[in-house]
Amino acid sequence: MAKPNPLPLRTGPGGEACIFCRIARGEIPAKMVGQNPDMAAFRDTNPQAPTHVLVIPKKHVASLDDAMDSGLLGQLLAFAAAIARQEKISKSGYRTVINTGKDGGQSVGHLHIHVLGGRAMEWPPG
Ligand code: 5GP
Ligand code: ZN
Repeated sequence: MAKPNPLPLRTGPGGEACIFCRIARGEIPAKMVGQNPDMAAFRDTNPQAPTHVLVIPKKHVASLDDAMDSGLLGQLLAFAAAIARQEKISKSGYRTVINTGKDGGQSVGHLHIHVLGGRAMEWPPG
């Protein structure tokens, strides 16, 4: 039997109680801006820029460190770019962010890409 992983981000159930899985299943409301059978994009409830969209795989993947499907990752990134075009921030520019784990500042244990735009971003990030 597999040894349980001690990291909290990886010990969650396969999506039953995961907040982003529940959004993907339509069980809790979100301002959805786009979706396809495999991915969803919805507005962040605590926006850090005029446009702040979260792009997720509908399948539960805890973090980038847990993402083993390179095809899915490629599709997710392409979907994020399509959402940025739809949101009309692709010409002015935007930032994509994936926070991973404790030091990365990840607070929701379901892989997501932040798509931020509508203002000039600063560097370095905090
Ligand atoms: P992280 O800190 O994991 O990179 O990003 C998680 C993001 O999810 C945060 O920006 C937070 O505001 C957002 N968030 C947390 N709970 C909810 C929710 O229930 N609905 C939506 N739309 N966003 C959420
Ligand atoms: Zn999930």
